[in-house]
Amino acid sequence: MQTSLQTVDALRRSGYTGHRTCESSFHTKGGFAFSFTKPKANANVIDTDRRLSLLRMFAKRMKITGLPRDGERGTHMDNNNLVIVTDFDGTLMKEDVGDTVMKELGILEREETIEVTRKFIGKEIGTMKWIEVAYSFLEGRQAEVDELLESVSPRQGAPRFLDFCKERQIPVIILSDGMAYYIEKLTQKFGIEADKIISNPIRYLSDGEYSLGFQNPNPSCRWCGCCKADAVRRLKEEGSKVVYIGDGVSDLYGSSFADWIFARSTLANFLTESGEQFYRFETFDDIMDVFAGDFDAFSAGTAARMRAKENTFCRFA
Ligand SMILES: [Mg+2]
Repeated sequence: MQTSLQTVDALRRSGYTGHRTCESSFHTKGGFAFSFTKPKANANVIDTDRRLSLLRMFAKRMKITGLPRDGERGTHMDNNNLVIVTDFDGTLMKEDVGDTVMKELGILEREETIEVTRKFIGKEIGTMKWIEVAYSFLEGRQAEVDELLESVSPRQGAPRFLDFCKERQIPVIILSDGMAYYIEKLTQKFGIEADKIISNPIRYLSDGEYSLGFQNPNPSCRWCGCCKADAVRRLKEEGSKVVYIGDGVSDLYGSSFADWIFARSTLANFLTESGEQFYRFETFDDIMDVFAGDFDAFSAGTAARMRAKENTFCRFA
């Protein structure tokens, strides 16, 4: 008898495309009113739900376990469990969209934001506290945010890289300490497909309300809005080989559990200072040269510059 995951793969080979959903997960700790909005349904997502429902019924009858839960990716047997985890702002996108919004709407100049920025730079607080203050000022400003989103674009080579991953059935996870609203809007606008989007559930809701919350399922550490370390750590526990792509401070936490790191900007500087091995990039064409050029080695887990340093700064229960 086939195992459940072989069954999923058999389904996929016969045209199953259901795992490519776009969904944020979240939790309810931290004293905030969290909301969950499943992104706009499309044919693909409906297809996923129906197929997985049938598959679950079949699995239950045959006493098979291990099927992916809602919002989870399936396991890919043909690429040795490679997973791409990419940051959004300043990585998948050319611009840091969150910074652009904060700057252009004058939020960085507000007294309250200046104070939390001072504390953030002094390492007195993490992004969770910063977001709690700064993002509260986006309430009621959806039209202005939407207008700013017209001026941003994906980083060069990103579509080709994502196509490459899709062709080889390599799951892509967008992992961001930014705002779900603009990530979902921009991924839809540019046709960016991801198997999962993990970001802070901050959204303008259809009833005009503004929802502010965090994506941090790690009760031992309330430093970041989105605990990137927790997300990558979980992937490793599931047996994935993680290729991490990022540019900022929050990526230092996430990438410290990955197998290989592609870094630019601040993240590249941090990694250089700490003596960590990584691949430097500016465009996704740079990443393609390395990743696609040496794909067999990445797939086999033997590619060069494997991350080696232990994470000594993230806390877990
Ligand atoms: Mg970034």
